[in-house]
Amino acid sequence: MSDCIFCKIISKEIPSSVVYEDDRILAFKDISLAAPVHVLIIPKQHISSVMDLNLEHVDLIGHIFLVGKKIARDLGVDSKGFRIVNNCGEDGGQTVGHIHFHLLGGRGLQWPPG
Ligand code: AMP
Ligand code: ZN
Repeated sequence: MSDCIFCKIISKEIPSSVVYEDDRILAFKDISLAAPVHVLIIPKQHISSVMDLNLEHVDLIGHIFLVGKKIARDLGVDSKGFRIVNNCGEDGGQTVGHIHFHLLGGRGLQWPPG
């Protein structure tokens, strides 16, 4: 998607601080940290939101969570805990139309979220 900011991050047109990359996904530090650890995990395939997921994406989404577990370990938030969260649509607070999962940790997180 030529006008998608996260596709541009994947193609390295826009720089980012990469913490993990493989053939299917990229994980990079959020530009606006909401917690001491704040990483975005995204598929390299452009999928707009959870509402565009279907059965062909089941393995991809599972992979994203397993990589999230690895990143949590690598960044030292595995023992105290962390949150992996997706915002979907306007009311969900989604501001970038390329599906992404926030990995947040390094402080006590509130529930329910605002
Ligand atoms: P959401 O509000 O769930 O759509 O999350 C989008 C996230 O993308 C926000 O937390 C932004 O801070 C983050 N973001 C936007 N542009 C960039 C960028 N160029 N590099 C890293 N993170 C970004
Ligand atoms: Zn995209």
